[in-house]
Amino acid sequence: MKQPINDAVSRVLTSGWYVLGPEVEAFEAEFADYCGVDHCVGVANGLDALILALRSLEVGPDDEVIVPSNTYIATWLAVSTVGATPVPVEPDPATHNIDPARIEAAITSRTKVLLPVHLYGQPADLDPILALAKRHDVRVVEDAAQAHGARYKGQRIGGHGDIVCWSFYPGKNLGGMGDAGAITTHVAELADRVAMLRNYGSREKYVHEVQGLNSRLDPLQAAVLRVKLQVLDEWTERRRAIAAVYSDALSGTGLVLPYVPKWADPAWHLYVVRSQRRDALQADLKESGVATLIHYPIPPHRQRAYAGHSVAQEVLPLADQLAGEVLSLPMGPHLYPEQAKQVVEAVKRSA
Ligand SMILES: *Cc1c(COP(=O)(O)O)cnc(C)c1O
Repeated sequence: MKQPINDAVSRVLTSGWYVLGPEVEAFEAEFADYCGVDHCVGVANGLDALILALRSLEVGPDDEVIVPSNTYIATWLAVSTVGATPVPVEPDPATHNIDPARIEAAITSRTKVLLPVHLYGQPADLDPILALAKRHDVRVVEDAAQAHGARYKGQRIGGHGDIVCWSFYPGKNLGGMGDAGAITTHVAELADRVAMLRNYGSREKYVHEVQGLNSRLDPLQAAVLRVKLQVLDEWTERRRAIAAVYSDALSGTGLVLPYVPKWADPAWHLYVVRSQRRDALQADLKESGVATLIHYPIPPHRQRAYAGHSVAQEVLPLADQLAGEVLSLPMGPHLYPEQAKQVVEAVKRSA
């Protein structure tokens, strides 16, 4: 991995193309192909991918966007940044993802977009969401920042909704060596609009059609991502093997384990269990030398960032409950099944 990355980086350094250019275009083509979708547009990070997706759909003040109550705050911030209102919908507690059965009640005449998140790399149940969007004539933007390579009913995430948003933050399943992001879509006009918006609203130098921003994918990151894309499936397999060890060995321990619906093929960004004695379990694991994390300890509606916003008044008991119970066990392509077994033993010691 080190040598091909060094080669890729020095290829960019000697090329003289430091903004957009052939390396970015090559990654865009390769990632679109990987996702089985017509278009990919590279941007600066995952939050910008969401913001630009919403802007390309002309979402703005007075519009509402339906978001999961249980997500990383970026999903909400993108909506707020374009001036629209995030309308939270509670999760299906089995999958942690937005519950399609609860969405319809949240749709109003102001709803413009449904924004499901494939949280922890588990695909959200897209078919009922796409059907609702069709029935109510609203668009679907997916937050796939944790779902590189995940499949829904056999088809890779990337082209189900109108626009799918990606982050290549270093810690993601496909990560750069710095910030990076992209959108994928089947809709040529939307890809074209995002490409313009990411580049000062310009198609032609010094001609500005809309008030865009500067959010371009860095060619150095594109070069690194091209190398890592080649091993993504192999790394997802390693994650799957770790998840299999956990799911086998931890059933019957009283922990709530990830539920994988028949139609889901997760990317296993995280392996998240639930326990009513989460904090004690985390402390015991730490004693045993097992580092765990909490994704996420404070749901967006409880963040100070939303204090004073009407959404802070929302009653979202499931989001609150999950924040108090979730624990992410060690997960990644760097782990060996033997190490996962040691984690299992440490969990079993913590009664
Ligand atoms: C990481 C992440 C983002 C934001 O991506 P950045 O590249 O960090 O801006 C958005 N949504 C979710 C669910 C994420 O996990």
